[in-house]
Amino acid sequence: MQSLGIFKEPANESRVSVIPDTVKRITQTLNMEVWVEEGAGIRAGFTNKAYEEAGAKIVSNSNIFKNSEGLLSINHLYRGEEVEDGKSFIGIYNLMYHRQRISTYQKSNLSVFSLDMVPRTTKAQSMDVLSSMASLSGYKAVIKSAELYGSVLPMFTTAAGTLKPAKVLILGAGVAGLQAIATAKRLGAIVEAFDVRRAAGEEVRSLGAKFIEVPGYTENTSAGGYAVEQSPEYLKKQKELIHEHISNASIVISTANIPGRKAPLLIEQASVECMQPGSVIVDLASEQGGNCALTQDERMIEHNGVKIIGSSYLAKEMPMASSQMLSANYFSFIKHLKQQNGNAANDPILQGCKVIENGELIHPAFIKNLTSA
Ligand code: NAD
Repeated sequence: MQSLGIFKEPANESRVSVIPDTVKRITQTLNMEVWVEEGAGIRAGFTNKAYEEAGAKIVSNSNIFKNSEGLLSINHLYRGEEVEDGKSFIGIYNLMYHRQRISTYQKSNLSVFSLDMVPRTTKAQSMDVLSSMASLSGYKAVIKSAELYGSVLPMFTTAAGTLKPAKVLILGAGVAGLQAIATAKRLGAIVEAFDVRRAAGEEVRSLGAKFIEVPGYTENTSAGGYAVEQSPEYLKKQKELIHEHISNASIVISTANIPGRKAPLLIEQASVECMQPGSVIVDLASEQGGNCALTQDERMIEHNGVKIIGSSYLAKEMPMASSQMLSANYFSFIKHLKQQNGNAANDPILQGCKVIENGELIHPAFIKNLTSA
């Protein structure tokens, strides 16, 4: 692959896949040509001029298809336009959740890499777009809830009296949850967190927050650190304890997800109704059904004075930071792709995210699913 094209995203997307600094690295260290669709970076704060100064050529949408071998975007933008054989689409297409998108690429002799499927291994860490976005979303969830919350996060001692610090509860202490804990701690809140993975407890405590432990947990060392099924008594105790902590929280940020499945229900309507009016819930698992029974995806609602925000994409609200992080992830991926000559045969990273090769669906996760359907 010798040339890359960077598309302008749709109107509801303010991020861009590659920023000018990365264009410079691509042209100088990978010796590739870069074509950028006119206005691609404007909404994220990157002008056409900045791209040109970094060594890119600004062109129209149709010229991106014509000139570039690697076609880069964040969203799925391909609508079956005519393109020469052998080109590769690289983006964050979420094909597991949007399977109907696959057939568009199968009609042509194209290859597709979906970066959300890059294996989450140490070697692929620099390409992990999910962690980049989760980390920013966890941060933004705290900032947003602090803005909407009816009081302050730290303790305020003034001549007019003392304001109590906010109690922030984080449900799910993965990448987004840990960043939310760190941010809420920095703002002076009292922070506690819950996760079904016991290993998360150590990370939560190392950030200075309290880890909520449910007594009676069953460990299974052969499960490789993942959660295993728990007894009905344990699950009942867990539900009661979580309800108690939600009722006392001023802000709840929920991030609990199970890859490829519906998000677990952790905040029931009765728990929301026990929260004080003026409290806030941010549900980052909303796209997968939400952790809160009342969540509406991509909307903010109010129930008994409690604001509930459903958004899995808060990182999008910081297009400059998001684009900078994604751009670094895309660079690492393209560098790796070039080193491997695009050949996925013996490479676990490319095998993990190459879904279509020359028009043929090759990813085992999809093939297995088609045959079992
Ligand atoms: P995720 O977004 O799929 O889930 C978020 C969290 O929700 C997880 O910690 C999960 O345990 C938790 N959760 C699921 N069901 C729950 C329930 N019923 N109640 C409470 N919590 C529940 O996960 P993620 O943030 O993308 O990452 C999860 C794990 O993967 C972490 O251990 C993280 O360190 C690891 N990880 C490793 C790498 C790497 O090695 N390169 C990269 C990213 C993440």
